[in-house]
Amino acid sequence: MSVNVKLNNGIEMPQLGFGVYLVEEGESVIEAVKKAIEVGYRSIDTAALYKNERGVGQAIREAGVPREELFITTKVWNSDQGYESTLKAFDESLERLGLDYLDLYLIHWPTPRNNKYIETFKALEKLYEDGKVRAIGVSNFNIGHLERILSECKVKPVVNQVELHPYFSQPELRKFCSDNGIYVEAWGPLMQGGEALKDEVIVKIAEQHGKTPAQVILRWHLQNDVIAIPKSTTPSRIEENINVFDFELSHEEMQQMDSLNQNRRQGPDPEEMHRA
Ligand code: NAD
Repeated sequence: MSVNVKLNNGIEMPQLGFGVYLVEEGESVIEAVKKAIEVGYRSIDTAALYKNERGVGQAIREAGVPREELFITTKVWNSDQGYESTLKAFDESLERLGLDYLDLYLIHWPTPRNNKYIETFKALEKLYEDGKVRAIGVSNFNIGHLERILSECKVKPVVNQVELHPYFSQPELRKFCSDNGIYVEAWGPLMQGGEALKDEVIVKIAEQHGKTPAQVILRWHLQNDVIAIPKSTTPSRIEENINVFDFELSHEEMQQMDSLNQNRRQGPDPEEMHRA
């Protein structure tokens, strides 16, 4: 079972959640989310883009855990940015999920060339004021994008969900978010299955703790006060990835892992990402 963190509006969010990017709609996502809930995850991260919100909703209903014990996140896609279109996209996501409220709604990417993220965030503020969502935030925002939100909008985003793993650990962005009371949430926390899982420093630390490299990486996120949402469709890995609350990395091990940063992204640069 995960622990909770308190967001800047006072609500609690599990520090470890389950991501469903590239998990197919229908049987695959239903089985994965049900397994995740069965082994203790209470936070599920989806997006309109992932086209699996219906399956996520069905899994939630079938899992038999009370709605209020779950924390459900989805995101407004780039082509729906804008005030009215965001309000509409939110209602459509809620309908697909079969829910009557959401826990967290995020702007998926800033798409700065479109210059619509301020009015989009104002739509999120409206949804928040109307009680349709318990918290609002952003994803893939750089410091400059966050500065505009903080100066031009009323509500502070509770999280900024960004690519973050030992080879791309974003120290400056993390410091900015921490200084401003915004939780950093790591997507691609396992480098999307990439080389960090085979890094010899991480493999050695894992051996010393009798844990796997994936567990050590997730533990590093948690001890850095980051929220993480690893994805897997393999039942044993879904379980492995939440089994990270029974060991602790030493200060020295944390420093060794912090020093692995190569400033190496897997995904696009938010400044350049304008896919519709
Ligand atoms: P991830 O870092 O969670 O990596 C998932 C991959 O790692 C799996 O497909 C598998 O190949 C491997 N893996 C998982 N568990 C493992 C284990 N125990 N041992 C070895 N390998 C393992 O990458 P992700 O899915 O891209 O990110 C997690 C979640 O973040 C997504 O599912 C999605 O919800 C969210 N996300 C958000 C954005 C965004 O723009 N906001 C972008 C990408 C992902």
